[in-house]
This record gives sequence, C-alpha cells and structure tokens, in this order.
Amino acid sequence: MLPCQSFMGHRLRSTTSPAPATPAAPSALIAALAAAWPDATCELDHRDAYQLLCATILAAQSTDKMINTLTPALFARYPDARALAAAAPEELEPLIYKSGFYRAKARSLTGMARALVERHGGQVPAELDALVALPGVARKTANVVLSTALGTTVGVVVDTHVTRLAARLGLTRETDPVKIERDLMACLPRAEWKTFADRLIWHGRRVCFAKKPACEQCTLAPLCPSAEVPGSGTPKTKASAKTKTKAKATAKATPARAAKPRR
Ligand code: SF4
Repeated sequence: MLPCQSFMGHRLRSTTSPAPATPAAPSALIAALAAAWPDATCELDHRDAYQLLCATILAAQSTDKMINTLTPALFARYPDARALAAAAPEELEPLIYKSGFYRAKARSLTGMARALVERHGGQVPAELDALVALPGVARKTANVVLSTALGTTVGVVVDTHVTRLAARLGLTRETDPVKIERDLMACLPRAEWKTFADRLIWHGRRVCFAKKPACEQCTLAPLCPSAEVPGSGTPKTKASAKTKTKAKATAKATPARAAKPRR
C-alpha cells in the first residue's frame, strides 16, 4: 500500500500543466468536492436495498439514467427477492434488454435473488462478505448497497469514475479496484468514504470527463496535479483547445453543477 504522501512529485499525465506540482492533501479535496457537489448521492432510483442491488447489477456497462427507465417495470413485476427468484432468466430479458449484456444480467439477477431466498430469507444481508458471495455481486456493488441503502459503510465505492479521478488527483497509482479502494481508505477519514466517492462520481460525470476533462471550469484545478491550466507555459494541444470551447459553451448554457452527467 502506498500512502498519499508517497506520490509527491509523481506526474500522472504528460500533457498537463506543472501546477500544482504535487497532489493536494485529501482534506483539501474533501472540502473542494463538498463545496462543488454538496448534494451528491447515488443516482439509481430505488426504495430499498433489494431494488438498489438489482439496479446496481443492471448498471454495469450502462448508465444510471437508462437503468432508471427500466427498473420501474422490473420492480412492478418482481417486487421482492422471492418474486424474482421464481422467475426464469428469459422472462426478465425483455424488461432489461436496453441495459446491455441482458442475458448475463438476467442470470445474475435471478441467481442473486435465489441466493437471497436460500441463504438470507429473502433479505439483503448487511455484511460485505455475504453480499460478494451472491451471484453477480462484486465489491463495488456491495459497497454501493451497504453505504447507500443499509447505512453501513465498510469501504469506498470504486467505479470507473472513481478509478479515473483518484489517479488524476494523485490519490493512487494503482489500477486494480481493490488496491485503489485500499489507498482511498488509507487517505480518507472513514466518515468521508461514502460522500467522497459519491462526489467523485458526480464530478466525473459532469466535469472530469474520461476523454476531455473540463479543467478550465473545474473547481478542483488548483489542487489537481493533472489540471490543464491556461497560461501555465504548457503548449495547448488540439484536444485541450476543443475542450476549452466546449467547456465555455457548456458553462454558458448551464452551470457546471447542472451539466448533463455522463457515465
Ligand atoms: S477536470 Fe478537474 S479533476 Fe479532472 S483533470 Fe481537470 S483539473 Fe483535474
């Protein structure tokens, strides 16, 4: 494990500006993210742990917005684990087709529901080990359900956005999600594990895009070792110029906080 302080001086993107030279203290990032996204939370619609577990399984390789269009019909037909456990995977496929990988997801959902019935009386367990033992449930999904629906935060949700932003912000050099989570847990106060991940995900969807991060309208830029800052002496690339134009247009149309999220 590498503590945050050991990344001092590490450069994460060769095309970025030299400022700041080192990653910011996690406490500064916590404050900046809290100011930018005070209300960030899980964007998957759900009423209970069962629904969030289903929705999170469905959200793999899809978008929360898409999943939120599919789950009302799914939950109306299968309101609890017992109802879902009694279904054949083929019955689910038309309902979840648009989420992608629908055959595998249908198998995961029915398998997960049967395991809930057989092992936990149809209830979603509040233990990480029991959750990750369910079909289709990996550590990220378990952390989402535990922290958001069951009020038990035992880790940090590491999805594609957290993976990307943790690296750009200098919080980890790892690429394996389990090791990234370990670094974040070491850097952050436990009380921040849930909200920090929620806010990173919102920031990744609205500002720090995978291909063209909107650094010029990013409130984290003064703290970010990967920021592309104008006037820094770093020659602008075609990509950064395009990003600037797009960011300005976006900022004019809507505030960054209200920008359309991306997966
Ligand atoms: S958008 Fe913000 S967090 Fe992402 S690389 Fe640019 S300055 Fe860093």
